[in-house]
Formats: sequence, structure tokens, C-alpha cells
Amino acid sequence: MYHPITDVELLPLMTIHSLSPEILDALEGAVGRNGLTVEPAGMAKYLGDWAGDYRGGALAVLRPGSVAEVQALVRLCSGLGLGVIPQGGNTGLVSGAIDTKGAGLVVISLERLNTIRRIDPENFTLQADAGCVLQTIKDASEAQDCLFPLALGAQGSCQIGGNAATNAGGVNVLRYGMARDLILGLEVVLADGELWNGFSGLRKNNSGYDLKQLFIGSEGTLGIITGVEVKLFPKPARTETAYLGLASFEAAIQLFNRARRDCSDLISAFEIIGSECIELARTIDPGMTAPVAAPVQALVELSSGPAIDLNGVLAGFLADAMEEGLVTDAVLATSGARANTFWAIREGLVEGQAKRGYHVRTDLSVRISDIPALIERARRFVALEHPNWIPLAYGHAGDGNIHFNVLPPLDLGTAEARARGAEITAGLYDIAVDLGGSISAEHGIGRSRAREFWAGRSPAHRRMITALKDALDPKGLMNPGCLLPSTETFP
Ligand SMILES: Cc1cc2nc3c(=O)[nH]c(=O)nc-3n(C[C@H](O)[C@H](O)[C@H](O)COP(=O)(O)OP(=O)(O)OC[C@H]3O[C@@H](n4cnc5c(N)ncnc54)[C@H](O)[C@@H]3O)c2cc1C
Repeated sequence: MYHPITDVELLPLMTIHSLSPEILDALEGAVGRNGLTVEPAGMAKYLGDWAGDYRGGALAVLRPGSVAEVQALVRLCSGLGLGVIPQGGNTGLVSGAIDTKGAGLVVISLERLNTIRRIDPENFTLQADAGCVLQTIKDASEAQDCLFPLALGAQGSCQIGGNAATNAGGVNVLRYGMARDLILGLEVVLADGELWNGFSGLRKNNSGYDLKQLFIGSEGTLGIITGVEVKLFPKPARTETAYLGLASFEAAIQLFNRARRDCSDLISAFEIIGSECIELARTIDPGMTAPVAAPVQALVELSSGPAIDLNGVLAGFLADAMEEGLVTDAVLATSGARANTFWAIREGLVEGQAKRGYHVRTDLSVRISDIPALIERARRFVALEHPNWIPLAYGHAGDGNIHFNVLPPLDLGTAEARARGAEITAGLYDIAVDLGGSISAEHGIGRSRAREFWAGRSPAHRRMITALKDALDPKGLMNPGCLLPSTETFP
């Protein structure tokens, strides 16, 4: 249900076009000489996104080296009426960390706040600076025989603060939940520069509003996350991985339901891949071949402690599924290295799309049972209305999350591809919403979806969002234009 947007609900955005020498001196005073960059060459890597879809501008890039410096910067910007964009690893895919509107903002990069503060294997918790790269946190947990289960293709670059700010998902959501489920506490610099310490180390704490949840998924619009405390889990002693061939997406969903019954909570990932995606993965590694040839392929991972005969569980489940005709072909990884080659296909197909250049990218979600209908309707829509475009469907099937992406014909110019791509995106959103789904399962709203997000909220929903924003960021200086559209982004 889409609701008309009225100007009265939109935030005004004051634009500052350049920084005076006095302001630059003050910023440098807060963050030190090494923490301030204004030269275009030095700023370039902070102003373009991973996929090459968005380029933006900034008046300065600020890289604080301590929480106190973040506070000093935010206080200064608040006094000056200067809007800020918090930036983590800049791997977001919806232009949340890039000012594509030229709104005259400063980027505050958390990259220098990158220390793991404490690991407590006894209580299965870890506390880190927000700028810690996710892979660093995973490695440090593993060194203590623990698992931090958040796992996504960008884990070598994205930061735990960015993961919190976007409520990141990934391939293990099915078993462990999204970032929201994995975070025990946050430390946040509020819009006026005050520091909120929301750490408790407690797993159960039922005392009033759970304020950390406001900041998780807020995409930098309510404050700057400077520290994150996460839950750890015992490192699985056993992992079994299978690559399966299936006749259709309907069969894949039936198989998933059967897997839930037969393997219960032992399933840690259930990814589905349309066979059309394999060629893209091969553009990253031409030697890569899918272990099966089937129109739909599934990557299934089980993991457990040492006492369970995991191989027996997986083999038994697959034997039954093959007998029933749900699975047409199956290859079990006989080693960790073989399992990695299966995952390389899943990761390679994402990189292959980025390599191909601009394309329509979505992360739709529907009820799991509606996945086949979503893919079927989306494919029909593309075939009828945009016949030369190439649709790809893959995703975290166990979460009802499908990436339905569409590649433009190679001979189409970028400007035309982007214009047509916007139409295709709108058509795909309509299909997902019509099925009762969401236009964003995991990547978030950012700037690129703010209009659609806002149009899909009821008046009551919008009132609550604006009330929260006004209460926590009354000057509207925290990531203006992201998530909540600003007047400048709405012609
Ligand atoms: C190859 C690839 C695979 C991906 N796979 C997945 C996936 O499976 N699941 C998934 O959910 N996402 C995925 N993503 C998207 C992206 O990696 C995640 O959204 C990630 O959590 C972003 O973290 P980041 O540190 O890069 O944040 P950024 O991109 O820097 O920022 C994202 C948003 O968070 C805000 N932000 C960042 N840091 C802070 C902070 N410290 N305080 C307040 N706000 C902050 C920014 O302002 C921005 O709005 C993928 C991206 C790539 C490139």
C-alpha cells in the first residue's frame, strides 16, 4: 500500500557549499592533521561505492582516531549546522554512506577506530570498536574457539559498526539471525556529541525500552556507533556442505521445508542459485564449474558440535530427498577446501555482476512459500517488458530473501540502462509488495530507496519515524537524505 508523500513530513536540509578556513582549522583541531582530508584525490575512495553505482561529494573526510574525537567532531558539526555521513567499510549497496545529492556534508569514517576491546570466551561475548572489520572479529573469535556467525561476501571490508547500522544479514541468518539478533550492546555518539554507553554484557535485560535496537538498522540517521558488543557461539566442530541440483524453485522450497524437518536447527545455510548465475561466477574464475548441471542449484550447509553424526544426517536427508525426486543430483564436499569451492561459486556470481557494470540489484523478501511465485512473476515481467535484459535469481532461500537482479544488454549505454533500470526496479518492487513482501530484506534503504520506502509507510508509521528522528537528531544533521528523505531529494 503506497501513501502519498506530503512536504510537511519531509525534513529541511540546510546546504553548506564550502568550509571556511576557520571551520577547517576547527575540524583539524578536533581530529588532528592526519584525520582531515579535503583534497579530491585523498577523498576519492570515500566518495564512491563498492559496486561503482554511486559517486558523491563531501566537503571533507574526517577520520577520528578515538571516541573522544568522534564526540568533538559531532559537537562541532552540530554547532555549525553541518550534516555528517557516518561511514564504515563503504560496502553498502544503497548509497547510505555516499552523498549522491551534493548536500554539502562531511564524511566521518570510523576506519581508525579498529581495536578489538575485549573477548570473553567464558561468557561468549566480544566488544570492539565500530571500525573493526568483520573478518577481523570473526578471526579473533575463532582464535578463542568461538564463532561470530555474521557472514557476508563483503566481510573482508565491511565494519562491525556498519553491520550494526544496516542490520546486516548474510548466509547464516537462518540459524543465528541478523545483526539485530547478534548484538548485545552498543556505544553511540548522539547527535549533540554526548556518549551513550549501552553495554551491559547481559543476555537477558528486560528493563524498559531496548534502546540499542533503535540504532540497529538506523543507517547512521540517529547517531554514530563507536562500539559494538556481540554474542559469540561455540565454534562448530563439524560442518558438512552439499551442492545440489533441482528441477525448479518450487522443488527448492519443498526441499528446504523437508530439510527443516529432517535436519532441524543443524542447517546453517540454505542458498539457492538459478543456473543462469553460473556464467557470471565464471567471469571471475573461468576455471570454475558448478558441481551439478541443473536449472536450479542449492548450497546447503549443516554444522554442529562433535557429538553429532552430521555426515550421516546430511546423507540420510539427501537419500530420502533424491528418492522423492526433490533432488536430481548431489555432490557432498569431502573436505573444507572442496566446500570452499562451492562457496566460491556463490561469492563469484556477485563479483561477476559488479564486474559487468551497472545492473538492477534487489534484495526482495517474501514469505518463503511465495519465493517461486516471486521469481516466476519477476521473470515474466522482465521477459514481456524488457526482453533483452537478463534476469538472475539467487539468494538466502531459508530467509525468504531473493536477489532478483537484471543485467542490461551489453550494447546499451549506461545512461539509458540506468533509466530503464529504474523502471525495472519499480516493477520488481511492485511484485514483491503485491505478494506482501519487502523491498529490502537486508541491504537497507539508504538514499537509493528512500522515496519508495517512505511512500510505502502508513501515516502512523511515518509519524513514529519522524518523532524518533526529531527526538534524537532535532537538527537533522545525522546522514541527511538517507532513509528519511530530505526536501532536496524530493523534487
Ligand atoms: C559483495 C557484497 C556482498 C554483500 N552481502 C551482503 C549480505 O549478504 N547481507 C547484507 O546484509 N549485506 C550485504 N552486503 C551489503 C553490505 O556489506 C552491508 O550492508 C554491510 O553491513 C555494510 O557495512 P559497511 O561497514 O561497509 O557500512 P557502509 O557501507 O560504510 O555504511 C552503510 C550504512 O551504515 C551507516 N554506518 C556505517 N558505519 C556506521 C557507524 N559506525 N555508525 C552509524 N552509522 C554507520 C552509513 O552511514 C550507511 O548508511 C554486501 C555487500 C557487498 C559489496
